[in-house]
Amino acid sequence: MDISYHHLRLPRKRFEISTGVRESAEVFIVEVTHGSFRGIGSGTPATSYGDSVKKCEKALAKAGNYAVDPDTYFEDEMSEEIREISPSAAAAIDIAFWDIRAKMDGLSVAAALGGSLRGIPTDRTIDLMKPADAGREAASLVGEGFKSIKVKVGVSLADDIERIRAVRNAAGSGARIFIDANGGYDVENAAKLWDKVADLEIDFFEQPVPQDMLEGLASLRARGIKVCADESFIDEETLDRIIEMDAADMINIKLMKCGGITTAIRLSDIAGNAGLGAMVGCMGDIGISITAAAHLVCSIDPHQADLDSHLSIEPICDGPAVIRGDLSLRDKPGIGVGLIEGWQRWRA
Ligand SMILES: [Mg+2]
Repeated sequence: MDISYHHLRLPRKRFEISTGVRESAEVFIVEVTHGSFRGIGSGTPATSYGDSVKKCEKALAKAGNYAVDPDTYFEDEMSEEIREISPSAAAAIDIAFWDIRAKMDGLSVAAALGGSLRGIPTDRTIDLMKPADAGREAASLVGEGFKSIKVKVGVSLADDIERIRAVRNAAGSGARIFIDANGGYDVENAAKLWDKVADLEIDFFEQPVPQDMLEGLASLRARGIKVCADESFIDEETLDRIIEMDAADMINIKLMKCGGITTAIRLSDIAGNAGLGAMVGCMGDIGISITAAAHLVCSIDPHQADLDSHLSIEPICDGPAVIRGDLSLRDKPGIGVGLIEGWQRWRA
């Protein structure tokens, strides 16, 4: 069985959050072939989690040296070793293996995971734009059929309050709205922000304080704020600490930090057994890994799917389409998406 990869650099819409600005996307495509079967995966290394383009490339080159086959992949030690170097490389490989394994069994990945294939409602994210722009954007998203909106905050308390208020006013009372500070606040200001928008029915607060401030997350929960841990949750070890400290109501599961579907399911089970909810999120993911995450959602049924990054990045695959705010999955074996013509021109 062969594993091959390609490094691409894709143009993307400018995106500004409390930790910085992004203007292009570094992407790795992984293809695995076995007889006449072919599986595909994608990885987008996140520097905010210690991953990098260099590490991802190194891990994928190493993966090519392993003798693996789709029957034993899920039990062997390769993924563990690759994940330690680069979780995005491990994710790209794991997605490709689920794709090929499900194709060999004639099942969608959702079905192979024990779920049933369905459309997945996703939120759209409004970044740190001016409040008036945020209002216009929210109105247009609701018009397109999106039922939930994530609002980025974490830099200026006054602007954040105005931005959230503009989004609620424009989106109406029916939309689910939640906020994400990417760790940009301290406990005092996070609590202040939550109080100031108390009348706007904000569903939950994602990563209000920095990654290592689990006490801070726990103290915000003690004040009645529903907290989702994103940057604070990376792996099993950090999940155990979150559980131990009662630091979150939910965790944000992303394939690019877990290292793929296989680990995401395991961590989701651990969280669920401890009474924690989940969101399935993304990190600069393109359509391939977004589709894989949507199949995961069919299986674990989280509180929220936050799978919209592909809509801001140059498309190189034929899915997933978004219909009235729902990610549409094809009822085909595997993940049901493939590369479109001309993708090679984005090689880095
Ligand atoms: Mg987040």
